[in-house]
Amino acid sequence: MRFADIRDQDAALEIFKRAIASDKVPHAYLFEGQAGVGKNTAARALAMILNCEEPGDDSCGVCTSCRKIIGNVHPDVRFLGLPEGKRRIPIEMVRNVQSWMEIRPHEGKAKVLVIDPADLLTEQAANALLKTLEEPRAGSLIMLISDHASSLLPTIRSRCQSVRFGTLNESTVVDLLLKNGLEQEKAVVIAALCEGSMERASRYTAEDLAQRMQAVTALLRSADDNTPRDAMAIAAALKGDRDETLAILELMLQVLDELMWLRSNPPGETVEESAIVKFFGELMDGLTERGSPGRMAQHIAAVHRAITAMTRNNMNPQLAVEGMVMAMRGRTSGGEAWGRIGAR
Ligand SMILES: [Zn+2]
Repeated sequence: MRFADIRDQDAALEIFKRAIASDKVPHAYLFEGQAGVGKNTAARALAMILNCEEPGDDSCGVCTSCRKIIGNVHPDVRFLGLPEGKRRIPIEMVRNVQSWMEIRPHEGKAKVLVIDPADLLTEQAANALLKTLEEPRAGSLIMLISDHASSLLPTIRSRCQSVRFGTLNESTVVDLLLKNGLEQEKAVVIAALCEGSMERASRYTAEDLAQRMQAVTALLRSADDNTPRDAMAIAAALKGDRDETLAILELMLQVLDELMWLRSNPPGETVEESAIVKFFGELMDGLTERGSPGRMAQHIAAVHRAITAMTRNNMNPQLAVEGMVMAMRGRTSGGEAWGRIGAR
């Protein structure tokens, strides 16, 4: 929970350390970046150092103030999040903390409010918050955290100092997963798939990776096979399951990415080195030899189109997957018939 515990975010930490050293911490920060890269932890670490009884380059982590912030019981530090069962942060919650923000710190040095995810404030809640951002109380800090910062009101964005958080290194994800008790082999493969986000990694951990991988490889094979029967059966099974379909398509992008990398490198050792190929063993058999990088790129485009069709145009998962398979087969000899159907 201290700065020292935060990994791969040196640029962000440097901004905080400089602000603290020169006593120029702004009234509001906006933490932007993917989910699961340490934004919330950084907010807590900053709240700790600002209130620590013995601060130096970092908070001490053991004083009463630090321990209260770690335990979520510090009277001057609040974390506002999505209430259970709600899809948005309502205006009442913002009003509530506003009156709290106006009172001087109770026992700490700085009043700190963290809102995560800030992009899920209702419009009224965001407008109410604007007032506090416009007239900040001296010695108070608001940290807004968002994975989709572009959807915040421009008036809110412009009143915060933006801090970008990058993705985590693969080796960091492996370390963190091992700490969470995952076996080495699985940790390595999940780290290769999760694009530097622990949030994504935890989704991969909880789910049955092998089962999804089966769907992914069947879909990829059907791009070349004479009959896309398996692919159509998968599409039919996914009919009403948007989340599962999107998860499979995301995994498919990762796998295609890996295959591209393998195809653009000399065969032999690279295949040996691929944690994904090693982990999925037989499931991946034959896939590493198939298709040129150009064809892989076509497949990737087809998957992206399917994801967009589902997320932006609300297309039914079955239709999206069927369309994707047709597009992937479009330029193979066996795929002409499907290409025609797709174009109709
Ligand atoms: Zn301390």
